[in-house]
Amino acid sequence: MGEEKNNVLAGVQEHIKKVCDSLGMEPAVYEILKEPLRFYEVTFPVKMDDGTIRMVKGYRSQHNDALGPAKGGVRFHPGVYADEVKALSAWMTIKCAIANLPYGGGKGGVVIDTRELSEGELERVSRGYIRAIAPYIGPLVDIPAPDMGTNPKVMGWMVDEYCKQVGYHAPGVITGKPIIVGGSLGRGPATGRGIMLTFKRFAQAEGFDPKGMRVAIQGFGNVGRSAALHLHELGCKVVAISDISGTVYNSKGLDVPALAKYAEKNPDNLKDAPGEHEVSADTRYALEVDADAIFPCALENQITEENAPRIKAKYVIEGANGPTTTAADQILQERGIKVVPDVLANTGGVTVSYFEWVQNLQNYYWTEEEINEKLEINMNKAFDDLYAMHKKHNVDMRTAAYMVAIDKLARAMKARGWF
Ligand code: GLU
Repeated sequence: MGEEKNNVLAGVQEHIKKVCDSLGMEPAVYEILKEPLRFYEVTFPVKMDDGTIRMVKGYRSQHNDALGPAKGGVRFHPGVYADEVKALSAWMTIKCAIANLPYGGGKGGVVIDTRELSEGELERVSRGYIRAIAPYIGPLVDIPAPDMGTNPKVMGWMVDEYCKQVGYHAPGVITGKPIIVGGSLGRGPATGRGIMLTFKRFAQAEGFDPKGMRVAIQGFGNVGRSAALHLHELGCKVVAISDISGTVYNSKGLDVPALAKYAEKNPDNLKDAPGEHEVSADTRYALEVDADAIFPCALENQITEENAPRIKAKYVIEGANGPTTTAADQILQERGIKVVPDVLANTGGVTVSYFEWVQNLQNYYWTEEEINEKLEINMNKAFDDLYAMHKKHNVDMRTAAYMVAIDKLARAMKARGWF
């Protein structure tokens, strides 16, 4: 991952600074928001199947907690680095503020390639990480969740390990858990559902019909797959999907349910999926195909100075965190391509995490219909606030998003007497 080039922390700091300046904030606001309030680096031993001990590095960043306890996922990836985790935690602060959730921003990372691990090793890494950070997290302190490379099964081990450490049931310490141990109905597909809801609201605001729109999706993991299925259900024509193995393409529309079913059993191998489509080895091809809207739902830094000039779509809806570099953002703006930013479009996941946490704290559980209804109400309100700011100040939607969030954060920090 480009640790030097496109350092994502510098990117998020730049956005925060620009918006603090344009809002005429006191200098303290940027000073507080530019770095996490707390950042933990841990190294813990994991017993491998062959009996050897491997030291594994992990991070947990608590960027800001003026609006509530830190909240955010844990990423398992061999390329995870400290500044990336800090940036991701800052994004969580912004996201939770935009989504009107009573949370600050947090994020965790473990430097590990899960594809190299057996099931038992993965469990020991998950438990080892939680043991290492247990003193710093808690249902009212910092609440981890899934992110890239982690899933409900990992969350199940993590919540169990935390409860063993503290000696009582505390399901609210982790969200994205399996349903049977306090997970919420609707959490699995929530990020993808939220991406579709944002697109629907965006279409309404801009005055176009999403039905029949040609859309392309980069990423076919939990988020990309759910986004593709929900967009397909909305009536969009999904013409291209990329994953780490390549891109499948059909200008008449792909068979999304069949591809999703295939990918569930055969992750990261879209290029070999059966069906009537062309295949390209290019993992970013979905971003460049002839489509009306593209949905980057994979890693950060996917739309760069290099490929931004070739994008044909009119709209970019960011499902991933930080998929567009600052330089590419500029190019897209100059080319009149509208970007619906990550800090709005992918808040469906953390919003249903919030519902999960509320259910855990009150020990009373809602139906999937109730969850989906609350999600739509919440996402529409976040969209409308941001869109109003975008129109009122005639700024791009990313700037508008940061304006909404930083205004809220500054008021909370002021009320707490932080500056
Ligand atoms: N990792 C997800 C995100 O980046 C979800 C976080 C959460 O549910 O707390 O938004």
